[in-house]
Order: sequence, then C-alpha cells, then structure tokens
Amino acid sequence: MAHLIDGKAVAAAVRDEVAEGAAAFEAAHGRRPGLRVVLLGDNAASQSYVRAKARAADAAGIDADTLLHPDTLPEADLLALIDQLNADPAVDGILVQLPLPDHIDEAAVIRAIDPAKDVDGFHPENVGKLVLGEETLEPCTPAGIVEMLRRTNVETSGAHAVVLGRSNIVGKPMASLLLRRGLDCTVTVCHSRTRDLAQVTRQADILVAAIGRAEFVTADMVKPGATVIDVGINRVEDATRERGYRLTGDVDFEAVSEVAGALTPVPGGVGPMTIAMLLANTLEAARRRATRPAG
Ligand code: NDP
Repeated sequence: MAHLIDGKAVAAAVRDEVAEGAAAFEAAHGRRPGLRVVLLGDNAASQSYVRAKARAADAAGIDADTLLHPDTLPEADLLALIDQLNADPAVDGILVQLPLPDHIDEAAVIRAIDPAKDVDGFHPENVGKLVLGEETLEPCTPAGIVEMLRRTNVETSGAHAVVLGRSNIVGKPMASLLLRRGLDCTVTVCHSRTRDLAQVTRQADILVAAIGRAEFVTADMVKPGATVIDVGINRVEDATRERGYRLTGDVDFEAVSEVAGALTPVPGGVGPMTIAMLLANTLEAARRRATRPAG
C-alpha cells in the first residue's frame, strides 16, 4: 500500500512558518505583507477559491484584500487597477484570478503586473528566471509540489520524473523546477500527442499528473514503488453526494495506491500546498521589496 502524502499537514507547516515570518516582518517594518487578489465575475468556484486564499492569508498575518469586479470590466480598467496596485507601497503581491473573460487579453494582464509583485510567478520575466535557474517567485502549484517532495524526503537526485501535462501554470514550470540543480531529476514531459504514454509513465520514479482528466492514470501506468503526485481537480457526477458531484484527481487513487510507493490524495494533497505557497510567495515578495526597494 502506498504511503499517503498528507498535503494538508505539509501545508499547515508551511503556513505556520509564513505566520512566523510575517510577524517578524511586521515587527521590523511596521506593516503586514500585503496581498491583493483581483477577481472578475461571479463564478462560484473562483469565488470560493479566492475566499479560501483570503482566509488563509489573514490567518498567516498577511493583509489580504479581494477586489471584486463584474466580468464586464473593460480591459483598460483592469490594467489601470493593476497600475494602481503596482504603485501602492503597501501591496507586495498581486494575483489576478484566471481564467479571465474572453474580451480581456490574459497575457497583457500578466505582463502588466510588476514582476516583483507577481506572486503567481506567471510574468515572462519570472518564467525566464525560473528556466535560467535564477531566484524568482515560483508558480505556486509546482513550488508546492517541490516543497512536498522535500518535506517528505522523496529522493529526487537522479530520479526520473515524468510530468504529465505541459501547461504554463503547472506542467512546464514543474519540469523546470525538477530539472534544477539541487533537485536534479531527469525530466520527461508528456502531453496529448505523446506516443505510448503508459510506456513512458512506467519509467517514472516520480510521476506528476496534471492533465485534468478524472482518474486517467491507472495502476498499469505506474512503476511499483513510484511517488505519484496528483494535481488534477475534476468534478465527477455522484448522485450519492448532496451536491451531486465529488472531486477526484487525475489518478485512479484506489488502484494506484496498490502499486505506488507514495501518493497524494485529492482533495487534501496538492491543493492546500498551492495556497500555502501563495502566502510564502507574498512574504518573500515583501521581504525582497523591503530590502531592495523599487527604482
Ligand atoms: P491544462 O488544460 O492547461 O493542460 C492540460 C495538459 O494535459 C495539456 O498539456 C494537455 O496536452 C495534457 N493532456 C490532456 N489530455 C491528455 C491525455 N489524454 N494524455 C496526455 N496528456 C494530456 O490544465 P492545467 O495544467 O491548468 O491543469 C491540470 C489539472 O490540474 C486540472 O485538473 C486543474 O484543475 C488542476 N490544477 C490543480 C491545481 C491545484 O492547486 N491542485 C492548480 C492548477 C491546476 P496538450 O498540451 O497536448 O493539449
């Protein structure tokens, strides 16, 4: 039976460290690290996700505020809001909740955020630094996975890591981080055009599944003893549940837990880590801005 990697417990440890750091920051600088989350529209899932981020930030001693706007907000107004937040000395981290409505150019919005305040790590300058192996604000989900691997003592050096999915927010930055000096994995990235996927995934000592397909990774795709990280969050119809659905990952949890050496659950795995790393990034951005003022 696979060892269960408890994302909630690891995330709680990270959040406690952030709270200590935020208290020290406040004592030294007379203000809390500041986070602003911008949300357009009334998508229920995004709203509950953003609320969870704000609650966690508050509990960690971060001054968090959610700026809600209708999904009809013109792009120029959103860019003006970002300019205002970029210029606000009390704001260390800016997060614009994606996806954005169709009339808004997502790339332009990401580029408008001051890279020093880009706590999502999506600005091209930060992405470039990540690939170069330079210090930067790292995208929260892959950074959270690295933290989980470290804190549960998963051996990465020389391990073959297979990343399923090549998105800009998970797959690609995950591959860059695992390849870094210090983690030193041999990395393979797979996507929808990969041939004989199971043959590739079976070679993985560390398998990261981030494709958004419910229970896609089956036991025969996993090498015995491998560490399996399930990033997927999928809604599957379930009449036995009051809300009519249940959340499931990209991994067939029951079957894979018979083969894998370690496995993250969904929920309670990668998800809590993503939020914890957002708080860690906000504190990090605040510290860097305090020691290296803009200009
Ligand atoms: P995207 O839809 O942006 O990317 C999915 C990737 O998976 C693509 O690269 C796609 O390939 C690949 N893919 C899709 N189907 C297959 C297939 N059958 N075989 C091989 N590869 C396939 O998704 P995200 O990266 O944004 O998210 C992935 C999942 O992770 C989602 O369930 C999302 O909800 C979840 N997520 C969870 C987070 C958390 O905090 N736990 C944070 C972010 C995301 P191609 O490029 O060829 O199309």
